[in-house]
Amino acid sequence: MLTCTAFLITLSFSGEPLTARYLIYIILCLLMLQAFIGIFLYRKRKRDLREIKEVISKIITNSYKSAEEIHLRGDLSELQKEIKTMFLKTQSDIANLKRLEQIRTEFLGNVSHELRTPIFAIQGFIETLLNGAIDDSSVNRSFLAKANQHTLNLSALLNDLIDISMIESGEMLLSFRYFNAYEFLEEIIQEFIPKAQEKNLSLILLPLDSSLKIYGDKQRLRQVMVNLIMNALKYTDAGSVTIGIADEAERCRIFIRDTGIGIPAEDLKRVFERFYRVDKDRSRMMGGTGLGLAIVKHIVEAHGFKVEVTSEPGKGSEFSFRVKK
Ligand code: ADP
Repeated sequence: MLTCTAFLITLSFSGEPLTARYLIYIILCLLMLQAFIGIFLYRKRKRDLREIKEVISKIITNSYKSAEEIHLRGDLSELQKEIKTMFLKTQSDIANLKRLEQIRTEFLGNVSHELRTPIFAIQGFIETLLNGAIDDSSVNRSFLAKANQHTLNLSALLNDLIDISMIESGEMLLSFRYFNAYEFLEEIIQEFIPKAQEKNLSLILLPLDSSLKIYGDKQRLRQVMVNLIMNALKYTDAGSVTIGIADEAERCRIFIRDTGIGIPAEDLKRVFERFYRVDKDRSRMMGGTGLGLAIVKHIVEAHGFKVEVTSEPGKGSEFSFRVKK
């Protein structure tokens, strides 16, 4: 517009056949037109801003049920797309936060329940002893032994809780290195021989290349093996627990196979959840915390692999995971 006016003024001074009066009219018309367009654009901008503000305040007050309800006029359609994307992202963030809050509440509920069980039991035995059972030689020792067992369960639970919270808050730092697989497994198995003998179970380490080296955090992988072998022994009443390594190209698969009670198909997917147990009473009676497999899963995943399980009720189970070699 300004260029146009300047052009006309230039024309008038350059002696072209336009009279000065006409020129002034034209300039005035152009200035008015410019003013109208300015007013029109200003109003349009105000209306657009009002519309955007309305949509934003509706999002803030949660007035939209779905992104489809968000509408901006034609020339704001690009912005409408952006706002819809932002709305969907906010919705999914909120849903995630709600889910996490629910998991946290459930977890706290589970922890309180798990802590209450041994504490109540210990309290019960001590009270009974104080109320006279301490002088009854037929029960006093067994009550003390039971109270002691519950303190051991409590301490195992606290250790597992510390591990889980360290793992989940990202505080568990892994120290990766190569180590000898045979020495590693042999040492762990030696620890479990008394427990296997107590239950009359065979504990077998299948032959393996004694020079095989595997790569990982030895301490944490030891924790994985201890949890899996302990479970295999706990949930097997007769037969054997077999540990072996299957060699694969750049990795190997470590498996722990038992001839125990097995796990029903519908529980298989859930056994890695915190506090999930197939048979709560049996697990608790055996000092299980319900956190062992959740810890195993986290550690194996921190090594970049997945823990797997196959099982047949009444026949046995096989837990396995891979490591780099
Ligand atoms: P728990 O301390 O109860 O053993 P885990 O997290 O180690 O907790 O295991 C979760 C559940 O998975 C157990 O309560 C048990 O029901 C089932 N489970 C784990 N290992 C075995 C196994 N080798 N044989 C049969 N059931 C098993």
